[in-house]
Amino acid sequence: MQGVPIQFQSPPSGSSLLDPFGRAITYLRVSVTDRCDFRCVYCMSEDMAFLPKRDLLSLEELDRICTVFIEHGVRKLRITGGEPLVRRDIMTLFRSLSRHLESGALDELTVTTNGSQLARFARELSGYGVKRVNVSIDTLDPDRFHRITRWGDLSKVLQGLDAAQAAGLKIKINTVALKGVNEEEIESLIHWAHAGGMDLTLIEVMPLGEIDGQRVDQFLPLSEVRQRLEARYTLHDLLERTGGPARYVKVAETGGKLGFITPLTHNFCESCNRVRLTCTGQLFMCLGQEDAADLRAPVRASADNTLLTQAIADAIARKPKGHDFIIDRDHSRPAVRRHMSMTGG
Ligand code: SAM
Ligand code: SF4
Repeated sequence: MQGVPIQFQSPPSGSSLLDPFGRAITYLRVSVTDRCDFRCVYCMSEDMAFLPKRDLLSLEELDRICTVFIEHGVRKLRITGGEPLVRRDIMTLFRSLSRHLESGALDELTVTTNGSQLARFARELSGYGVKRVNVSIDTLDPDRFHRITRWGDLSKVLQGLDAAQAAGLKIKINTVALKGVNEEEIESLIHWAHAGGMDLTLIEVMPLGEIDGQRVDQFLPLSEVRQRLEARYTLHDLLERTGGPARYVKVAETGGKLGFITPLTHNFCESCNRVRLTCTGQLFMCLGQEDAADLRAPVRASADNTLLTQAIADAIARKPKGHDFIIDRDHSRPAVRRHMSMTGG
């Protein structure tokens, strides 16, 4: 990419980003846009106000911030949104970040997408060293898909999955468990994903941002789902840990992997290894807290990275111990005002 102002340097051995609780920050999620071509009912209101484009970090600025994180021990980057693949020229960012995979400074570059643009970009992503993609699909029923996403077309997403597999990308399906909406479909989603060689992860609805409905009406505790599944399937706990709120099992009957992301019924903050950057340069140290550090000002203040590096270190020094999400009738307001599409899933 033209105009990336800093050169890559070898990272220090081990992570130099340690938070006050001794957790090493090795994982950065980057929301490259708050915009999306869907309007999922649990994520956004139909009539969303998006950020003015001038507030966004440029792709060069995003690359620069990611690079400083990598120099200080981040080993995994996830590009997310909003819908990351609708940001103009986003392949430029993947191309430029791929140099860190080539140098060995970065272990993994991944993307979370709604799949609407995957047919177009799968091959290019694979060419830039992306090996795995997370694709969000909450139902395989085209009408229900349209009702949940408001604007989405399931057939396009399924074409995207085919293209991703043809390009050699491993796929994990993300499914938000929605009470009375897709709960009866969870078993068939598991069979479908596993038969197609894809892992599937179930997610609890989180209280992020105002939506048109009430999240308490959507919330389905995964503890309940797991109990139901255990009555019919043999679930073997896997020890695999990603430093996030996901726990995985192997389903003996399908041979596939199933994840549970349960920020509400359990939290696993003690092993949290991640921070999240928004498309305007706000760094959130915890998905469930309001505190954020501004990295846009130090990036724009000078071409040298001293200020930026200091701002990152100061931010990590105040990473909180954890979040305290609650969804019930007494807590009908979102725990945090921003939407998931701002901080990225
Ligand atoms: N647009 C991309 C997608 O849908 O995969 C990436 C961004 S989206 C915000 C990332 C993930 O967050 C998706 O799997 C989505 O289902 C999930 N998500 C969005 N809002 C959520 C909420 N309030 N609670 C739980 N998961 C949510
Ligand atoms: Fe868009 Fe993803 Fe939010 Fe759905 S979950 S509205 S696809 S950002």
